[in-house]
Amino acid sequence: MEEAKLYKKSAGSQVQCQLCNHFCQFSENQTGICGVRQNQNGKLISLNYGRLITEAVDPIEKKPIFHLLPGSLSYSIATVGCNLRCDNCQNWQISQAPKSEHQFPGYGATSEEVIQRAVKLNCQSISYTYTEPTIFFEFALDCMRLARQKGLKNIWVSNGYMSKQCLDEILPYLNAINVDLKFFDEKIYLKNCGCKLEPILENLKYLSKQKVLLEVTTLLIPGATDLNGQPKKIAEFIAKELSKDVPWHISRFSPEISFNMQNGDATSDKLIDQVYRIGKEAGLKYIYVGNVWGDKRENTYCPRCQELIIERRGYQIKRYDKQGRCLKCNFVLPLKLS
Ligand code: SF4
Ligand code: SF4
Repeated sequence: MEEAKLYKKSAGSQVQCQLCNHFCQFSENQTGICGVRQNQNGKLISLNYGRLITEAVDPIEKKPIFHLLPGSLSYSIATVGCNLRCDNCQNWQISQAPKSEHQFPGYGATSEEVIQRAVKLNCQSISYTYTEPTIFFEFALDCMRLARQKGLKNIWVSNGYMSKQCLDEILPYLNAINVDLKFFDEKIYLKNCGCKLEPILENLKYLSKQKVLLEVTTLLIPGATDLNGQPKKIAEFIAKELSKDVPWHISRFSPEISFNMQNGDATSDKLIDQVYRIGKEAGLKYIYVGNVWGDKRENTYCPRCQELIIERRGYQIKRYDKQGRCLKCNFVLPLKLS
């Protein structure tokens, strides 16, 4: 447990959390929507500080981050909890545990221990992932500072619902972020995830102006993501408001492991093909199909001459010359190789 960094004290012993766009206001002994921040005697306490639920060595491609240090290992950590409650969540056992069961499973770890293990296991980055790093922001920030000192990169895999204050705190240490842009419809975002669309769009625009690698992921959920022309709106938003160089990961949905959509349909090949085409028509240069084994659209191609630059199979790199430019036409790709 640790006192939270971003909050305001208000009337009486009320506090208002400033960490994410819910801006929860609560009285003594209450917790916010995420279930991991509690008002204790007028102080906001992070209940999950330094209490990890998982640590793993993953290929960076699993995050997914495709344009930073391709083929490297990323030391990946999470605590329980999340500020959203997505029906499609595939890590719901750990993301929702504090809300439904008021439980904080996990084990104690220090930021020093996390960085030591990452270095020992030949990882080149730390990923804050699996649940939502915003809700373990204080611990993530401590790790990020140490990681920077040791020459490791920092990667957030996020739902993008953090406050601008939170972003400003992490940006000096952040190298890459993958943000889910799940929908482009206020009502569907609210129904599926319990949040608003607009703050996520604002954060994406803000991030696109920073010196961090930004990648975007959209899970293609039949009957939700494909309604009301959303794929086109998402692709055009990325192309016009962010950059055509921003990688867009379009991923297959598996209902059987979801939180609340077990009776839904898996993403069809047809929907993946349609959305891929929509992305191309919007002018996006790097579109990646995810959760589809052996699809050639996992590869990176030169946007100028279509030469194969990085060949992937699942999370493995099969071919890659590590030059960051096309050997055929000399085009320099926006890859971060160091
Ligand atoms: S992190 Fe977000 S959901 Fe959690 S208490 Fe703060 S404002 Fe509420
Ligand atoms: S899908 Fe991500 S943002 Fe949504 S509840 Fe799960 S961990 Fe949280």
